[in-house]
Amino acid sequence: MFQNESRSAVIVILPSLFALVVVVLLVVVCLLPRFSRGDRAIKKHQQKRIECLNSKVKAEQFVDWAKKEQRSRPGSSFSTVLCVICLEDFTESSQIRGLGCHHVFHQECLDNWFSRWNEYCPLCHRPIIPGAKRTRKSRRWDEPPPVAFMI
Ligand SMILES: [Zn+2]
Ligand SMILES: [Zn+2]
Repeated sequence: MFQNESRSAVIVILPSLFALVVVVLLVVVCLLPRFSRGDRAIKKHQQKRIECLNSKVKAEQFVDWAKKEQRSRPGSSFSTVLCVICLEDFTESSQIRGLGCHHVFHQECLDNWFSRWNEYCPLCHRPIIPGAKRTRKSRRWDEPPPVAFMI
């Protein structure tokens, strides 16, 4: 009696477990390529944004940028300038991007910041691309939470 019951339980449970596994596998197989396609599209879009940034805001060595800034704004001191994205000091040979708002960041840090759909300078919130419209920022799932800086 007991054996019969457990056997019928196995007969019911096993096929439903099997069906569940098949359904899960199907879902994974169907969804995975879609996710990776989405990833590729995002990467491509990020690449385009960096190309656009490259054409509008040239990367250069910190020492060259500091010389230009000193010429345009005499009296400026750059001895204690740090990149507020990674909080590291610049060295003379650091590859940087200097924005129109006179704020400066490591090229790598700013590229990373900009490719995450951040349109504005992390310090003063002026557009990173000169002349870009100040529209409402569209938030994306992979956007980091807003960072507050004391200035
Ligand atoms: Zn940095
Ligand atoms: Zn700025």
